[in-house]
Amino acid sequence: MKRRVVIPGRLRSILYPWIFLYVLISILVLGGITFNSVRKHLYNQKIDALHETTLLIRNVLASSDSESLKETAASLAGDTSYRITVINDQGMVISDSLLNPAAMGNHADREEIAQALRGEPHVSMRFSETLGYDMIYYAVPVTLSAGSMVLRTSLPAAELKESLRDVYIAFSIGGIVFLAVALGITFLLISYIERPMAVLAKQSARLAKLDFSERITPHSSIREVQIVANSLQSMANELKDQLVSISHQRDELQAVLDSMSEAVIVIDEQMTIIEANPSANQYFTPPGGQLAGLPLTAVVKHATLHDLISETMQDSGRRSATITVRNSSYHVNVTTVRAAAENTQVMLVFNDITALMHLERIRKDFVANVSHELKTPITSIQGFSETLLDGALDNSHLARRFVKIINRQTERLQSIIDDLLILSELEQKQSREHFNSRVLVEPVIHDSLLICREKSQQLDRDIRVTCDPALAVKGNTHLIEQAFINLIDNAMKYSDSTSPITIACTSDEHGTAISVSDQGYGIPKKDLNRIFERFYRVEKARSREKGGTGLGLSIVKHIMLQHQGSVDVVSREGEGATFILRFPA
Ligand code: ADP
Repeated sequence: MKRRVVIPGRLRSILYPWIFLYVLISILVLGGITFNSVRKHLYNQKIDALHETTLLIRNVLASSDSESLKETAASLAGDTSYRITVINDQGMVISDSLLNPAAMGNHADREEIAQALRGEPHVSMRFSETLGYDMIYYAVPVTLSAGSMVLRTSLPAAELKESLRDVYIAFSIGGIVFLAVALGITFLLISYIERPMAVLAKQSARLAKLDFSERITPHSSIREVQIVANSLQSMANELKDQLVSISHQRDELQAVLDSMSEAVIVIDEQMTIIEANPSANQYFTPPGGQLAGLPLTAVVKHATLHDLISETMQDSGRRSATITVRNSSYHVNVTTVRAAAENTQVMLVFNDITALMHLERIRKDFVANVSHELKTPITSIQGFSETLLDGALDNSHLARRFVKIINRQTERLQSIIDDLLILSELEQKQSREHFNSRVLVEPVIHDSLLICREKSQQLDRDIRVTCDPALAVKGNTHLIEQAFINLIDNAMKYSDSTSPITIACTSDEHGTAISVSDQGYGIPKKDLNRIFERFYRVEKARSREKGGTGLGLSIVKHIMLQHQGSVDVVSREGEGATFILRFPA
């Protein structure tokens, strides 16, 4: 359907031409009708007068003979404006009150005469060829003693025309005055309506700019204006409430976005970042510190992610995927926020799962390692016990050797399970209450030494301890002893039994450091970072041979973490190793 184009204009410029046209047409139509009936009335008056006069003249001329007819007819007109003409049935003028009939031509062709000659009285208003001006003629057939004649009475039309001109002038002046008054009243009415409308227009323009500082008041007694003003005020109130509620919702949403640990990014159809929460700025550290305004590709370049976004934009749906960008793993949710023909917006929520993936890998490695560690002694026990059952039992020497091996493997299983239990116990310890008692270091070192000497059967091993007997740390005695045992045990295992072991304690305002040094095989540089991992061993065969489980240092690390301290290692291959336990002050 074709829409009409409406060009806006001021109320007065729209109303004035219409009202002017309406009043003008009204005046013309009414004036025309009235003027016409006045004209008719005046004309009829003249005709009536002519009719009456003609009848009178006919009566006077009825008895006149041909001779006296001329005289009488001429004298009857006298000083009046009437003209009396008598024409015979041949159209010849017998008598005329104004002119000499002899000079006048045949009148049979004159409209009124021709009609009267046919027996009908007739009126006509026409230009007189004889007189040279307009006349109103009334002609009747009469039967006089002089014979059948046509009696014509006439009056100049000028009089009628003058009267009509006066009426015309009076009507014109009246019309102009009426038009002026109508336009004046229209002007006043329009001003009366326009003024409050202009105020309302100004107030609503302020409202459109969301300026609620002033109340919307009618400024008019017109009911419709008051209704509009009241409706606008109600709308303003409603709008204000809505804006407040939207602003609250936006603040809440902003607070949620700001406090989210996930990175939230909103992009437009051109993949330009429109919004990003603080976590997103932290995750991706953009050049100017702000992601908004940058193209997404400048921050995350990942083919899968970009395909995902394009697909989501196309079907306005939601998708998710796990991606790895610059060594970090993210679980990304892609959701359409706004689906519009030209302004589709998509929200990306990045959840950093790097730590989770790392933990998952550790868990998998741990399960694989535990299985592997347990499998070796179990396979050995199974093998030797089967050999025994297959007949080796009968050979007491062989049987004794095999049972000894089985026993050693069982001890190994026991050690692994013990260490695993210690580790799991450490991981489950949540409360720090048990780590607040004051532990004197020197007695714990000596107890640990006793246990290690006993275990390794190196009772006379040269172990030098330098420790202030009063030195104490905050912690759990049992766990600190476990850490010492593991370090001293390692020092004994991974060094020559003739070489000395040194244990030294130092303390300052930063805390306490206890070092265990040996002069053994040492640790290659490449392994230094990994020896605290579970089941990590530098030389697997050597560790196994010495009864190691690969869990000792991992336990030490956990114990020190529980004490909010740390364990460090300083070593060179072939030059011994020093492990340092640091306790906070
Ligand atoms: P293990 O039970 O095998 O000793 P640990 O966790 O205690 O397991 O130690 C991990 C690895 O670190 C050992 O297998 C060993 O290779 C190396 N290591 C630990 N302490 C020392 C040390 N004092 N000297 C040399 N190597 C050591």
